[in-house]
Amino acid sequence: MAAKTTLAENRAKIEQYRPQVAAGGVQNLINGIKVPAYSGRTFTTLTPIDNSVICEVAEGDASDIDAAAQAAADAFPAWAALSGKKRRDLLYNVADLIEKHAEEIALLETLDTGQPIRYMSAAAVRGAENFRFFADRAEGARDGLALPSDEHLNYTLRQPIGPVGVITPWNTPFMLSTWKIAPALAAGCTVVHKPAELSPITAQRLAELVLEAGIPPGVLNLVNGFGETAGKALTEHPAIKAIAFVGESATGSHIMRQGAPTLKRVHFELGGKNPVIVFADADLDRALDSTLFMIYSLNGERCTSSSRLLVERSVHDEFTARLAERANKIKVGDPFDPATEIGPLIHPDHWEKVNSYVGIGQAEGATLAAGGGCPAGLEKGNYIAPTLFTNASSGMRIAQEEVFGPFLTVIPFDDEDEALAIANSVDYGLTGYIWTQNVTRALKMSHHLDVGMIWVNSQNVRHLPTPFGGMKASGIGRDGGDYSFDFYMETKNIAIALGNHRIAKLGVG
Ligand code: NAD
Repeated sequence: MAAKTTLAENRAKIEQYRPQVAAGGVQNLINGIKVPAYSGRTFTTLTPIDNSVICEVAEGDASDIDAAAQAAADAFPAWAALSGKKRRDLLYNVADLIEKHAEEIALLETLDTGQPIRYMSAAAVRGAENFRFFADRAEGARDGLALPSDEHLNYTLRQPIGPVGVITPWNTPFMLSTWKIAPALAAGCTVVHKPAELSPITAQRLAELVLEAGIPPGVLNLVNGFGETAGKALTEHPAIKAIAFVGESATGSHIMRQGAPTLKRVHFELGGKNPVIVFADADLDRALDSTLFMIYSLNGERCTSSSRLLVERSVHDEFTARLAERANKIKVGDPFDPATEIGPLIHPDHWEKVNSYVGIGQAEGATLAAGGGCPAGLEKGNYIAPTLFTNASSGMRIAQEEVFGPFLTVIPFDDEDEALAIANSVDYGLTGYIWTQNVTRALKMSHHLDVGMIWVNSQNVRHLPTPFGGMKASGIGRDGGDYSFDFYMETKNIAIALGNHRIAKLGVG
């Protein structure tokens, strides 16, 4: 795998792929055929490493979405009618192909997103796992419940809702796309995918591999373009029955509004400002490792990052001093270097946004204990040093707003009640991390934290059958395991009379 090779080897490999990608560009893929946008327009995708152009991308709009939605609608009856076993076999083929091309996918993802290759290699493999996981459940997806009453046998079954739209963000785009698309296909839905405009390259590879795996044309369609045009048209299209969306909370509000006239079912995975709460009795070494990993891995561009550290006052100074020392040693650099821990941020505009919070934190009176700004020698790319603010208070913007970068805000607390109040004081509610040896305290905190997912004495370790999703402004609905099928399928109840139950007679005088 690319993560195990050297920087020079990874660079040599990506230089082999780059001319092909530059020549072919990223097209739309509608009804099994790669096509440019109807308008002929394109936009460019840049590599965050030096902001040079990787390639041109088809700029789809409402007409391309219309063609893709029509293709998905035409392909739906046959795909939905296919046996679960056949769908499982085809999804296994996709997983095999992803594994076969995992190195290429990881390298392209690193080029397009700036994410370190050490993480992207695993993310490509996780994409294959997602396909296998949902493939294994395709046969049972329609199973329901038997709910007998005295006079009826009620039973439920599930059937795919229809063609669906999947809209994904720019962070870890390949893995996230598979997480959404694999259950949709396993359920029997057909899909129109609108990937993020800032990192579209691996979505095209996924659509190609799905076709190569033998999945019929029209089952997965790809339309590239901007959110306000292509994305909006997808959410408004009458043939599309549901929208699975991952992105910012504000965009979720737009999508809900846009989808209202056609009564779209929506599933939203949105932003986060997740607390990691460290009590003095915790295993502080492990808490330190986990805190660092959960904010500084994946460039901090991760919805579940632990971007607020709430630490008990008695250990605050020692813990934050160790944190700063380690943060300063994190290796920022070329994401193709397997030793690199933080690569460049996705786009210069995003760099400006993340770096602006350094000034905001200073103006608010928090202490800049590490980072801020671009490390020397890396000015050509969107690099930022891992940033740490200590002595913050929960009302500050750096303690409330999602920065979405390698940026950690530390807030001291005195007791459980104060920790809970601070943790719940934000608009978001995606994840929470609790570090303590006291099981009663861990349970009490877990039950009162307003978040969808909690890890106790643990970093974020995904178990695919468990529900994934957030509360408050962090999302609507859950996916993972059977929860994904509940979203992509309709549940139908069938009631069969067991005998001659009473039927009121009207019109008999
Ligand atoms: P974004 O909301 O700007 O864009 C996400 C996608 O939505 C893109 O494909 C974009 O083109 C599209 N879009 C934008 N406006 C649209 C509109 N009006 N109608 C339809 N589609 C539209 O998000 P981003 O900046 O790409 O991603 C970062 C955000 O994603 C962060 O807030 C992060 O927390 C969130 N995220 C959440 C999760 C989760 O599981 N909760 C996972 C990853 C990322």
